[in-house]
Amino acid sequence: MSGERLLVPEVWAGKIYSNGWKSAEGGTADVVEKATGKPLGTIGIASAEEVSAAAEAAHAAQKAWGARTGPARGDVLRELSRLVLVHADELAEQIIRETGSIHAKARWEVHVVAREILEAAALGSQPRGMVAATAEEGRHSVARRMPLGVIGIITPWNSPFILGARAIGPALAMGNAVVLKPDVQAGIIGGIAFARLLEKAGLPDGLLHVLPGGPETGAALVEEPLVDMISFTGSTRVGRQIGSIAGEQLKRVSLELGGNNPYVVFDDADIEAAASAGAWGSFFHQGQICLTAGRHLVHENIAEAYGAALVRKAKALKLGNPMEPAVQIGPIINERQAANVERIVRETLSQGATLLAGGGRSGLFFEPTVLTGVEPGMPAFDEEIFGPVAPITTFRTEAEAIALANRSEYGLVAAVVSRDIARAQRIADALHSGVVHINDQTVLHEVYGPIGGVGASGNGFSHSTLTNADQFSEWQWVTTRTEVPAYPF
Ligand code: NAD
Repeated sequence: MSGERLLVPEVWAGKIYSNGWKSAEGGTADVVEKATGKPLGTIGIASAEEVSAAAEAAHAAQKAWGARTGPARGDVLRELSRLVLVHADELAEQIIRETGSIHAKARWEVHVVAREILEAAALGSQPRGMVAATAEEGRHSVARRMPLGVIGIITPWNSPFILGARAIGPALAMGNAVVLKPDVQAGIIGGIAFARLLEKAGLPDGLLHVLPGGPETGAALVEEPLVDMISFTGSTRVGRQIGSIAGEQLKRVSLELGGNNPYVVFDDADIEAAASAGAWGSFFHQGQICLTAGRHLVHENIAEAYGAALVRKAKALKLGNPMEPAVQIGPIINERQAANVERIVRETLSQGATLLAGGGRSGLFFEPTVLTGVEPGMPAFDEEIFGPVAPITTFRTEAEAIALANRSEYGLVAAVVSRDIARAQRIADALHSGVVHINDQTVLHEVYGPIGGVGASGNGFSHSTLTNADQFSEWQWVTTRTEVPAYPF
């Protein structure tokens, strides 16, 4: 616990962070508490010119940072991790107010960030390459990882602290500079917090720029020639646009996109345990997580009992302002998203599904909802809902379960619940999914396991201690001889 506040508005109100705090040319935006609509502060919005200036400053600063030793870069990140824990209470409260997160998620998010940064710091102490084989006597051949240069990081509003940290940590550890563009709706915890923490941790000027803004600011960052890589987390729609611009520019792009994740429950499952895990998978953070269980595919023999158990879980959840510690379901991020969840439920019911629980909302507070009789072609089956809705679809055979699970353009995560582990593993083999969990739910996140989607969920990149070093660096092959060899001409 620290007596000193981190996020003092006097420092950052109306400003961007780019070689220090500066008044923003792109205007300002108010950030509100999602449960109450009360103002939390005014952040600066970066203009396209400010994006270019930041990229130029980052490009210049990166040279000296990339030349530092890995352990020295790691020291700054270790201090960052320590500061995250020192300010854990304040950061968690900010997450609750700004993103509508419940207490448990906010505290978990802060601790995940501290761990992710610590693991990123350790990259600086790892080997940076290897001695390669060579077919030529007298040639010494080394393959080594080099920094990419400037990494542009674009994050969404749903878990902006984790999603920012998982890219900022390894990007800096591998010797890059960072330009971060958080979503305006969560621009304090998604942006200002990193600037405040890293300036306290002793990161030299110019290596982190925080430029909140909307699509225009993001597009300017993607287009900026001095930005060498874009690390994007957000919707598939925007990911496609960013991917095509980056492709044209031959710029590396990591796309972590949406999901419509199947949670498959077989008839040998413990129904209560499966429903409890399934409720967590669909209702945690109001279903506003890319890993949310979006479709409950349940064997027909247990579908009724499973539905009843899920309804009991849904009805027992406490809805309200998440500043109250007992609350388990907070608000949806904004009116547009809440109206979209409502539309999906309404249209799915009008196409023949049955409402088992919930379905209503009061403003941004959407009741945990259970639907059954949901079929492919209905919006609750086909779309990423991003709300606290658990749609149930039944299946009869293993083949049918696989076909239903794969019936989506997305491929982020899937989960299979069965006591028959051999069957569950067979299903994992057959699923088009970047992540599969057996006998667990879909919303699992740890820095050691690679999370990355296939299909419309991503372009093959993933974040984890296994993959981060490669993701944020590029190969350089260096050969050395003591003398120039003789050539035929
Ligand atoms: P979004 O795509 O609307 O916005 C994400 C970010 O992109 C924001 O910062 C936004 O300002 C910016 N942006 C918007 N248009 C842009 C453009 N044309 N150019 C550059 N930047 C632009 O997504 P959202 O609605 O804020 O977030 C929810 C989505 O994120 C969901 O689909 C969710 O599944 C996905 N998500 C994925 C992961 C993952 O790891 N795969 C994690 C969390 C969220």
